[in-house]
Amino acid sequence: MRKSIFLIVPFFAAFILINCSNSDDPAETSTATTTVPDVYQKIYGATSITTDGTYVTIKTTGQPDHKSVYYPTTNDKYEAFSGTTTFGNYTFKKNPNTISLTNAYTFKIPLNPVVATTHASTPLAAIGVAINGVPLFNQYAGPNQPLTDEFQSFDQYWGHPTATSMYHYHIEPLYLTQTKGKEALMGFLLDGFPVYGPEENGAAVTGLDVYHGHTAVTVDYPNGIYHYHITNTDPYINGNGYYGTAGTFSN
Ligand SMILES: [Zn+2]
Ligand SMILES: [Zn+2]
Repeated sequence: MRKSIFLIVPFFAAFILINCSNSDDPAETSTATTTVPDVYQKIYGATSITTDGTYVTIKTTGQPDHKSVYYPTTNDKYEAFSGTTTFGNYTFKKNPNTISLTNAYTFKIPLNPVVATTHASTPLAAIGVAINGVPLFNQYAGPNQPLTDEFQSFDQYWGHPTATSMYHYHIEPLYLTQTKGKEALMGFLLDGFPVYGPEENGAAVTGLDVYHGHTAVTVDYPNGIYHYHITNTDPYINGNGYYGTAGTFSN
């Protein structure tokens, strides 16, 4: 009889522990599908990340966590910048815009992304989110206009703001590759597929398809997944449209 009590007590304690840990989970409706998978926690710039089991909703302020000449001069992340950019040796020319301190962005992306039958082109607006919460933009300055005239206005970390004060990256987010590494997860496009840095297995990535990605194992997806890579040549982040079906961006 004593023996059976010793067997039951640890079982009961374990049951309590499991229930307590669940009660701290914000996605508490407690089925597995409404739990945000760990990989999304890498989006450290998010103000909230939730899922309804179909989409992951990521909210951010869009403010970069690094210094920029585009912050208001009174902001502690303002840093003067002039001279030559490290991207392409352009002579820096500041655009007239400033980073907003009040914007709020919502990226709604498929939780389980799948390849689309037709590949929609990316818009001239946010096409994804970087792990620091900054929007990712495509390889165009306007309809089919290359970025050529934009390069000169990229700041010390290779981003710049729009006229609506939306700071964004069209190319490698330099601060993220410097702090997380060239092979690290950089963010997600709106179709839910992850975006990685310019290197893989210690070398510059090669053999990308027209969407600028490929299917392979990554540290976050040991079973393999389709993913994009940001490279230092056009089209930089995404090629001929989304590989999957895009969710939505709103602000
Ligand atoms: Zn731009
Ligand atoms: Zn890869």
